[in-house]
Amino acid sequence: MRARREPPPFRIVEVARIEPRNPHMVRITLAGPMLQGLDPGLPAASVRVLLPGDPTEVVLPTWAGNEFLFADGSRPTIRTLTPLSFRSGPFELDIEVVRHGNGILSAWVDTAKAGDRVAVSGTGRGYKIDPAVRSFLLAGDESALPAISMLLRALPPEAEVEVAIEIRHPDARLELPAHPGATIQWCQLEAGSTPGDFLFAAVTSAQIAPDTRVWAAGEAAAAQRIRRHLFDERGLSRSHAVVRGYWKYGRGGVRVDV
Ligand SMILES: Cc1cc2nc3c(=O)[nH]c(=O)nc-3n(C[C@H](O)[C@H](O)[C@H](O)COP(=O)(O)OP(=O)(O)OC[C@H]3O[C@@H](n4cnc5c(N)ncnc54)[C@H](O)[C@@H]3O)c2cc1C
Repeated sequence: MRARREPPPFRIVEVARIEPRNPHMVRITLAGPMLQGLDPGLPAASVRVLLPGDPTEVVLPTWAGNEFLFADGSRPTIRTLTPLSFRSGPFELDIEVVRHGNGILSAWVDTAKAGDRVAVSGTGRGYKIDPAVRSFLLAGDESALPAISMLLRALPPEAEVEVAIEIRHPDARLELPAHPGATIQWCQLEAGSTPGDFLFAAVTSAQIAPDTRVWAAGEAAAAQRIRRHLFDERGLSRSHAVVRGYWKYGRGGVRVDV
């Protein structure tokens, strides 16, 4: 097996604040001196969050060439999130987590309290914005809302930005950062539909000019369908679109690797 590049080291942090953003999304502020030197990365970057079995004592794994492992060979519980905002003095990192009701991370959010410890490693690759581009399409589901917020803050104000967001419930909408050229379309999944259906429909029905840049993220199978549509059917240049699978529908405990 080919060795992968070692990710940045884990930093132990504490939950400082927990703030519901809506009934389905929680903002958690992580804090601690070990965040000093964390590279905030580009918009829509990623961080690995290690959830310890015991929130009072974080045992850190080591990099085993291809993944993080504990000394006894067991795998730590690590999930990938978006480093929404990073501040220094005191050092704080905000993450926002979807309460989808069916996973270790989602359950952790429901029980986390100030003072609980986790560890973060990052940041992973983000989106490099071409400042000369004047047309963007952003598409994502609830898990991509933090990344879309970061992108809206960072895109050139002169650009036209079409945003399509798939939500499961009407109250999953969030107030997004204002962008003068943004048009936001919220698409609510209907009963019986599969996560990603509306995301795919939003991308296939969008006007995409040859110079438009597309950024899309959400359920992994939908991301795959979107890639095929953009690159194989529309013939969009691969350098003009970033499409990322953020989670896998119906696969308990399986993480989409970044
Ligand atoms: C680069 C990147 C950035 C990400 N940023 C964020 C972020 O900022 N906020 C965020 O909430 N998520 C984000 N995600 C997605 C997040 O990593 C996954 O949703 C996470 O693995 C869920 O962990 P879990 O333990 O709750 O569920 P898992 O153990 O991964 O899965 C258990 C079950 O829950 C289902 N499930 C998992 N995630 C979701 C979901 N979002 N909606 C509905 N069902 C789900 C699975 O299909 C499975 O059936 C990001 C992923 C990547 C790759």
